[in-house]
Amino acid sequence: MRYISTRGSGEVTTSAGAIKQGIAKDGGLFVPEELPILTDAFLSELCALSYPERAAKILYLYLNDDYTEEELLADCREAYSEERFPGGAAPVVRIGDKTEVLELWHGPTCAFKDMALQLMPKLLSRALVKTGEKRTAYILVATSGDTGKAALEGYRDVEKVKISVFYPVSGVSAIQKLQMATQEGSNVTVHSVVGNFDDAQNGVKAIFADKEAIAAVNEKDCFFSSANSINWGRLAPQIAYYISAYCDLVNKGAVAFGEEINVTVPTGNFGNILAAYMAKKMGLPINHLICASNQNSVLTDFFKTGIYDRNRPFYTTVSPSMDILISSNLERLLFYTAGAEVTGKLMAELKQNGRYEISADLLRRLNVVFTGLCCPDDREIRRSIRRTFDLCSGYLADTHTGVALYCAEKYQLLVDRQRTMLIVSTASPYKFSPAVLASLTDEVPADEFDSMRKLSELTGTEIPEKLIGVLNKEVRFDPAKPIKADEMKDTVVAEA
Ligand SMILES: *Cc1c(COP(=O)(O)O)cnc(C)c1O
Repeated sequence: MRYISTRGSGEVTTSAGAIKQGIAKDGGLFVPEELPILTDAFLSELCALSYPERAAKILYLYLNDDYTEEELLADCREAYSEERFPGGAAPVVRIGDKTEVLELWHGPTCAFKDMALQLMPKLLSRALVKTGEKRTAYILVATSGDTGKAALEGYRDVEKVKISVFYPVSGVSAIQKLQMATQEGSNVTVHSVVGNFDDAQNGVKAIFADKEAIAAVNEKDCFFSSANSINWGRLAPQIAYYISAYCDLVNKGAVAFGEEINVTVPTGNFGNILAAYMAKKMGLPINHLICASNQNSVLTDFFKTGIYDRNRPFYTTVSPSMDILISSNLERLLFYTAGAEVTGKLMAELKQNGRYEISADLLRRLNVVFTGLCCPDDREIRRSIRRTFDLCSGYLADTHTGVALYCAEKYQLLVDRQRTMLIVSTASPYKFSPAVLASLTDEVPADEFDSMRKLSELTGTEIPEKLIGVLNKEVRFDPAKPIKADEMKDTVVAEA
């Protein structure tokens, strides 16, 4: 399979090249030149397999120019092992008539980023060998919480890579801070940075563009690389769980083989839902995709009006991983529906004006597949969590999943209650304990770990050991010793 840019510069690379390079030279995103087709025979063969086996076979369709099926199977077996995903990587849980939840948070950090970040570093490590790269990839990440920890867990002790994560000293929850401060692994470092997320993010961006820093780490046989969600190596593993979920629905008799389902995805950067779209394009029986947003409803407005406009207020919500105004992966959808030339123009407009408008015809075609819905505020998120808990036998959802539950219910009420709805759940409720607890009671303890314990008592559900366990781990990277943003470059070079 060859990979080309969404902006049509004519650049062509292989799968390992796309994964190593991350972004195309014209600023576009890499997409496969052709789409593999899911035949009925292949799909029914997958139904009989385990999650790692399914994932390896699906990934092989996309990466078969550079990777062997044996390599992918070995990597998937490790990434999605019972040890890392106890009870299975992507289970589907029934919560009501024609309503099923795909739980993507059983990995090491209890959030869905693990599904991609457990595997992607292994693909990158192999890509370096396959492209003849002698140097070590030095991954720099600025994080507001979830991504940093998931990246650390994914890249730790992977050959030919090292990783440094920077988080703002203010703006990361107590548990997230402790998760990162206690990170294990011989190739990891973690720093808190004075300031907010933008300070950390700008610091990392400046290093990526700094010729002196690039030359200095090159002297130490390293080159900078990012763990960005626009890398094809992060997107491809996400296609697998939609196909796997469909197999599980068939296996348990929730749908007949070939019967179409609807899918609701809590969306921020548009990566997760784009993977669902790719699965549909491959031939998976998906009828409609519901793009669920929180109060930052830039995508809801886009699917309603055809205007994408990031010039708007930014809201901080109880679903922080969806507090996003630039949904980078939307570019791939534009490419598939409007072509490279139009995509290039729209992206140039977005860069210049923070806004673009698509044609009425294109909007009509997008609406055949996508509906954008949003949950208007935190109160409605909490009510949705509460309603699900009360009506669905005590099913406990996190705040991001709460947004999806709200939007799915609306779609079922207003449009389609006949087809089975698959709702994607992206985090453990215990990752956002205070807000989840607030959905059920007015008494929320000030301490986050006390909130966890109280949530467990109140609901009779178990706190994941991976979260509460950080209290007993050794702190390796002291959160109380932040560095200044202007010290980041020297720190990165010194630690290369
Ligand atoms: C990242 C994230 C999302 C958003 O996913 P995108 O691929 O960015 O659309 C939703 N929920 C949680 C918990 C996340 O960490």
